Amino acid sequence: MKPGPESVPDDLCPVATQLSGLMPGDWRALRPVVDRAKCVKCAVCWLYCPVQCVVEKAAWFDIDLRVCKGCGICARECPHRAIAMVEEIDG
Ligand code: SF4
Ligand code: SF4
Repeated sequence: MKPGPESVPDDLCPVATQLSGLMPGDWRALRPVVDRAKCVKCAVCWLYCPVQCVVEKAAWFDIDLRVCKGCGICARECPHRAIAMVEEIDG
Protein backbone atom coordinates (compact mmCIF):
# COMPACT_ATOMS: atom_id res chain seq x y z
CA MET A 1 0.00 0.00 0.00
CA LYS A 2 1.24 3.50 -0.82
CA PRO A 3 2.28 5.40 2.38
CA GLY A 4 -0.05 8.23 3.36
CA PRO A 5 -2.25 9.56 6.19
CA GLU A 6 -4.97 7.02 5.40
CA SER A 7 -2.52 4.19 6.13
CA VAL A 8 -1.51 5.53 9.60
CA PRO A 9 -3.37 3.89 12.54
CA ASP A 10 -5.40 6.45 14.52
CA ASP A 11 -3.64 5.66 17.79
CA LEU A 12 -0.10 5.84 16.40
CA CYS A 13 0.76 9.51 15.89
CA PRO A 14 -1.51 12.43 16.85
CA VAL A 15 0.44 14.82 14.62
CA ALA A 16 -0.06 12.68 11.54
CA THR A 17 -3.64 11.70 12.27
CA GLN A 18 -5.14 14.85 13.84
CA LEU A 19 -3.09 17.79 12.65
CA SER A 20 -2.51 16.77 9.05
CA GLY A 21 -3.90 19.35 6.70
CA LEU A 22 -2.75 22.30 8.80
CA MET A 23 -0.24 24.64 7.23
CA PRO A 24 2.68 25.95 9.33
CA GLY A 25 1.08 29.40 9.21
CA ASP A 26 -1.82 27.94 11.24
CA TRP A 27 0.32 26.95 14.25
CA ARG A 28 3.48 29.08 14.06
CA ALA A 29 4.27 31.08 17.26
CA LEU A 30 6.77 33.52 15.73
CA ARG A 31 7.00 35.01 12.26
CA PRO A 32 9.95 36.59 10.46
CA VAL A 33 9.63 40.19 9.28
CA VAL A 34 12.11 41.47 6.70
CA ASP A 35 13.32 45.07 7.00
CA ARG A 36 13.40 46.01 3.32
CA ALA A 37 15.71 48.96 3.96
CA LYS A 38 18.38 46.65 5.44
CA CYS A 39 18.08 43.73 3.01
CA VAL A 40 20.88 43.68 0.42
CA LYS A 41 19.62 40.52 -1.40
CA CYS A 42 22.61 38.43 -0.37
CA ALA A 43 20.34 35.31 -0.30
CA VAL A 44 21.83 33.89 2.91
CA CYS A 45 18.32 33.51 4.35
CA TRP A 46 17.23 31.68 1.19
CA LEU A 47 20.22 29.35 1.51
CA TYR A 48 19.55 28.43 5.15
CA CYS A 49 15.74 28.21 5.26
CA PRO A 50 14.96 24.51 5.84
CA VAL A 51 11.59 24.66 4.08
CA GLN A 52 12.56 26.86 1.12
CA CYS A 53 9.94 29.53 1.80
CA VAL A 54 12.17 32.56 1.21
CA VAL A 55 11.18 34.19 -2.07
CA GLU A 56 12.99 36.77 -4.17
CA LYS A 57 11.35 40.15 -4.76
CA ALA A 58 12.62 42.98 -6.94
CA ALA A 59 14.68 44.70 -4.24
CA TRP A 60 14.64 42.38 -1.22
CA PHE A 61 13.93 38.81 -0.10
CA ASP A 62 10.55 38.06 1.48
CA ILE A 63 8.93 35.11 3.24
CA ASP A 64 6.02 32.91 2.14
CA LEU A 65 4.18 32.93 5.47
CA ARG A 66 1.84 30.10 4.48
CA VAL A 67 4.81 27.72 4.60
CA CYS A 68 7.22 29.39 7.07
CA LYS A 69 7.35 27.45 10.36
CA GLY A 70 8.89 30.28 12.38
CA CYS A 71 12.13 28.51 13.30
CA GLY A 72 14.14 31.76 13.22
CA ILE A 73 17.16 30.36 11.38
CA CYS A 74 16.91 33.07 8.71
CA ALA A 75 16.98 35.80 11.37
CA ARG A 76 20.01 34.25 13.08
CA GLU A 77 21.93 33.81 9.84
CA CYS A 78 21.14 37.13 8.13
CA PRO A 79 24.50 38.98 8.13
CA HIS A 80 22.75 42.36 7.94
CA ARG A 81 20.29 41.84 10.82
CA ALA A 82 17.49 42.51 8.36
CA ILE A 83 15.08 39.90 9.77
CA ALA A 84 13.26 40.18 13.10
CA MET A 85 11.17 37.42 14.68
CA VAL A 86 7.88 38.77 16.06
CA GLU A 87 5.09 37.03 17.96
CA GLU A 88 2.01 35.92 16.09
CA ILE A 89 -1.08 37.63 17.41
CA ASP A 90 -4.29 35.60 17.72
CA GLY A 91 -7.23 36.67 15.61
S1 SF4 B 1 20.06 37.22 4.56
FE1 SF4 B 1 19.25 39.23 5.20
S2 SF4 B 1 20.23 40.72 3.80
FE2 SF4 B 1 20.50 38.68 2.91
S3 SF4 B 1 18.74 38.44 1.49
FE3 SF4 B 1 18.11 37.56 3.47
S4 SF4 B 1 17.10 39.26 4.58
FE4 SF4 B 1 18.26 40.16 2.89
S1 SF4 C 1 11.66 31.36 10.16
FE1 SF4 C 1 12.54 29.36 9.48
S2 SF4 C 1 11.01 28.55 8.06
FE2 SF4 C 1 10.55 30.74 8.29
S3 SF4 C 1 11.65 31.75 6.62
FE3 SF4 C 1 13.00 31.77 8.41
S4 SF4 C 1 14.27 29.93 8.16
FE4 SF4 C 1 12.47 29.69 6.82
